[in-house]
Amino acid sequence: MKRLESGVVFCVLASLFVVPSTAQTIPAVSNAAKEIMIIRAAHMLDVRNGRMLDNQAVLVEGDRIRQVGPASSVTTGLGPGAKVIDLGNATLLPGLINCHDHILANPKDQSPTADLRMSSPQKTLWGLHNLQIWLGHGFTTLRDAGETDLAYGQLALRNSINQGLVQGPRIVSAGNFISLTGGHGDADALAPDQALPRRPNLADNVNEVGDAVRRDIKYGADWIKLMATGGVMDPTSDFNVQELSEEQMAKAVEIAHRARKRVMAHAEGTEGIKAAVRAGVDTIEHGTMLDEEGATLMEQKGTWLVPTLYTFQHGVEVGSSLGADPASVEKGKKILGYQQTAFAIALKHHLKIAYGVDDDPDFVSKEFGALVRGGMKPLDAIQAATVRASELLGMSDQIGTLETGKYADVVAVSGDPLTDIQTMESVVFVMKGGVVFKMPAQK
Ligand SMILES: [Zn+2]
Repeated sequence: MKRLESGVVFCVLASLFVVPSTAQTIPAVSNAAKEIMIIRAAHMLDVRNGRMLDNQAVLVEGDRIRQVGPASSVTTGLGPGAKVIDLGNATLLPGLINCHDHILANPKDQSPTADLRMSSPQKTLWGLHNLQIWLGHGFTTLRDAGETDLAYGQLALRNSINQGLVQGPRIVSAGNFISLTGGHGDADALAPDQALPRRPNLADNVNEVGDAVRRDIKYGADWIKLMATGGVMDPTSDFNVQELSEEQMAKAVEIAHRARKRVMAHAEGTEGIKAAVRAGVDTIEHGTMLDEEGATLMEQKGTWLVPTLYTFQHGVEVGSSLGADPASVEKGKKILGYQQTAFAIALKHHLKIAYGVDDDPDFVSKEFGALVRGGMKPLDAIQAATVRASELLGMSDQIGTLETGKYADVVAVSGDPLTDIQTMESVVFVMKGGVVFKMPAQK
């Protein structure tokens, strides 16, 4: 591709032919190899050190960051050749990372029969649609927290994005939820004489867990997702009850770690959280009824927490209007009463916390405010979605900060997120791997 010889200073705000202004008009195939761009803004948040820096620029070559620093020094030496994207008074941040989402299906249909009415191809196309929304909110990396799709549509999307067939965030993905029969991940809520054929994600003993884990790994899962306790979004399970046994979870961890995969556990009730941590899982999802003993255990073992605070708050507000089963809505109201106590305990124990929004992608930015209302400092909340999340994913050498050599995943917001965390809800610029996905609206 073109390097520096074009001799034209490129101002994107004036000429939108080369860098389109809307998601819809951008070609799906990334072709940014070795193109050089400078992104300049009045402010940049250094998320690693928690410092707000002024008049900074990021030099992007192909899909990587080549240099970051004061705008004057980054632009010097390139002459007038490079394309310059001047974002004015905006604040630059690294691409955001959501560590708990479910890519597939229509997020606005929470009916317990939604799964039965949608084919894997249809769910996957919904997933492709959903991915554009995440990216538009500045989320350039997602961890899929498991699906009920036996054809693994989420892995097809991950692979297709990596191959450049379609556009979307980079994806790290679990396979299917591994669950007890009748547990939180049993997709069959039908009457006994109407039951579906037994699915391979169900595991009622240690050997069956091994089978389910190996199936996920065989088809390409990056993570294994365990249902350690009951949950909210199904009509029957009890979130307070431990489901998979500690022995079952330890077997999953043993097999996954041997294959260099990692394990995330949906865990709400107190006992299930502790059993999952003792079994050696890498991350606890939700942790809604975490107690002192559980937090101490997580601190000792270095287990991550992905608290998903907003999801529960939002679910209680909108669940009924989206078709959720009344039993699920009632469970949601009950568990919400435990959330703040548990989160305060997690903060007190300085647990490793990463950002997760287990919700419709339209609301992916809402966890920033929820974390801050729950007692986190704005900087900590932003770190949870950037540098900390990249550590959780084992990708801190690739993403999570604006540093030389990393992927050019760059976003910008129009104010100072350290003084007003809500600024994170209006991302005005998104670049993933050197490809511009969103530009500020023209005035
Ligand atoms: Zn989830």
